[in-house]
Amino acid sequence: MPDSSKEIVQESLAALREDPTFLPDLEGESREKAFTSLASIISTPNHVHKSYLRVRLEDNRVERIPSFRVQHNNMLGPYKGGIRYHQSVEESEVEDLASLMTLKNALHEVPFGGAKGGVVINPSDFSEKELYTISKKYVQYFSEILGPEKDIPAPDVGTSEREMDWMMGEYKSIHPGQKYRESFTGKSVLNGGSLGRREATGKGVYFTLRYLLHDFVQENRDWLGERESMYAKTALEYQDRTLDIAVQGFGNVGSVAALEAYQCSHLNNKVVAVSDKNVTLYNPDGIDIPDLIRFSSSNQNNLPVNDDELKEANIKADILGRDELLKLDCDVLIFAALGGQVHEGNMDTIKAKILVEGANAPITERADEYLNEQGVIILPDLLANAGGVIVSYLEWLQGRETQFLEEEDVFRNLTNKMRKTFDTIFPQYFGDRHSLRKNCYIHAVMKLSTIIYRQGKLY
Ligand code: GLU
Repeated sequence: MPDSSKEIVQESLAALREDPTFLPDLEGESREKAFTSLASIISTPNHVHKSYLRVRLEDNRVERIPSFRVQHNNMLGPYKGGIRYHQSVEESEVEDLASLMTLKNALHEVPFGGAKGGVVINPSDFSEKELYTISKKYVQYFSEILGPEKDIPAPDVGTSEREMDWMMGEYKSIHPGQKYRESFTGKSVLNGGSLGRREATGKGVYFTLRYLLHDFVQENRDWLGERESMYAKTALEYQDRTLDIAVQGFGNVGSVAALEAYQCSHLNNKVVAVSDKNVTLYNPDGIDIPDLIRFSSSNQNNLPVNDDELKEANIKADILGRDELLKLDCDVLIFAALGGQVHEGNMDTIKAKILVEGANAPITERADEYLNEQGVIILPDLLANAGGVIVSYLEWLQGRETQFLEEEDVFRNLTNKMRKTFDTIFPQYFGDRHSLRKNCYIHAVMKLSTIIYRQGKLY
């Protein structure tokens, strides 16, 4: 767990310890001891598995590729979380992301624990066949700790339904005659995946923003008007405005969130900028997202990088440097790339007043503190990007019951679950001085602690 998350967990536990209605049976010295135990259980992963995958590449070279599976906590259910393929993957980062999964699931009442996997590769350096071999090896090396009731991986940065299909196939070969459909989620629909899983994170990200400004604020306008908090003022100020939205990252999460925003243009939204690892495209009058998606899907998920490609994509926009997106004059910034994007070095260049974390951990602790002080509303990762794991749960259930949900049922379930969390969290947030992230942590830690206590783990 990163020091910043550890600190928020400690602060959340400190707040809960002072609340006499929380675990009221615990008093005096036993209360102190119980909270010390909770802090250590929640801040430490249960298991950290590491292997060097031995992979023979197409040129016959053998490479040893570092790879991880961190199982943080399984109090709420089997371990659950994506597998990331990226050259910057590090053990400590996978630990942080695994703990975030535990808290994300606890917050939204998804009956899974938290885990995360990582493979230290740049996927674009490998052929499809080599990626297939790497994916199979991952399952071979970790086959004993994975499984439908033990630990269920899913896609993350650098992986998709293709890798999950390969991995499930390998799991099935290693464990013949056993249940295998629920061993991985985020598979292709043909292979037992759920309709709507691919779009789930991006749709959930946009839904979080829309719910805040077009449902919650409108329904609670008077109440918000009476609140002292800066956040309430920001929310009221932005609800009726035309929102200029910029999206960092145009992969599975960013492109879907951008499309949702584009399709909701009747709600006064305009996607004015998008970026990927190469460029930022900017047009203050709005960008045609369906055309851009068509271009990027037939160009290895890349955005146009020059005038010829813009023409080919039928897009009108200025091409700016990749990092220019964060400095643009816009209302909303959606993060859908990697972590650590806003930090001490660039936090004062952010002009947007509403930030949505589609990616995990895109804002560092110091930047989070600074932006909160400015009255910026930050919809944090564990609140805003849970759509993926919520629909993973539906996929897991469908695999168990060999029954399939229609897409509209999937999205109804997704939005109902998220709405339930928002209705608990938003009033608390606007009513007090804590950041939205802190409110989410307090809530998630409360649920997790109650379960740990009820399962007798503090004796
Ligand atoms: N990788 C996604 C996340 O960070 C989804 C995890 C899952 O579906 O298990 O939330």
